Order: sequence, then C-alpha cells, then structure tokens
Amino acid sequence: MPRKIIKKGKKPHKNKPTSKKYTKYKIEGDKITRERSCPRCGPGIFLMKAKDRLYCGRCHYSEFQSKKEVAPKA
Ligand SMILES: [Zn+2]
Repeated sequence: MPRKIIKKGKKPHKNKPTSKKYTKYKIEGDKITRERSCPRCGPGIFLMKAKDRLYCGRCHYSEFQSKKEVAPKA
C-alpha cells in the first residue's frame, strides 16, 4: 500500500475573490444610486440579475420581471 504523502506546514496563500458589492453602487454627482435590493433582507443585500428574474442569494427571494403570466388556478 502506497502511503499518502501529507504535506505539513504553511499552505501557499491564495487570493480570495473580493466582494463585488461595490459594483452595485454608483455615484452620480452627489447622489448614490443603488441597484435593486432585497425587500426581505433590506438594503445592503442585492438581488442577482438573471435573464428574466431577480434573485436573492441570501433568502432565495426571486422576482420575475418580463412576463407577467400568472398561472391559472385549477
Ligand atoms: Zn433576501
């Protein structure tokens, strides 16, 4: 049986992806414009943009945009 080689000591540092939250804010003159935030989580939690919907990754709230088709109730 070949032994597993376990490396000891410090692991090489890897850069983690930074928060892209700042991209949701835009400054126009004196005003700050924000993207759509989650109605459940409040400001600071932004909704992810999909093709036809907005989605909150925190509370899984989703908002459908384009087609306002309501499913008929059986
Ligand atoms: Zn939310």
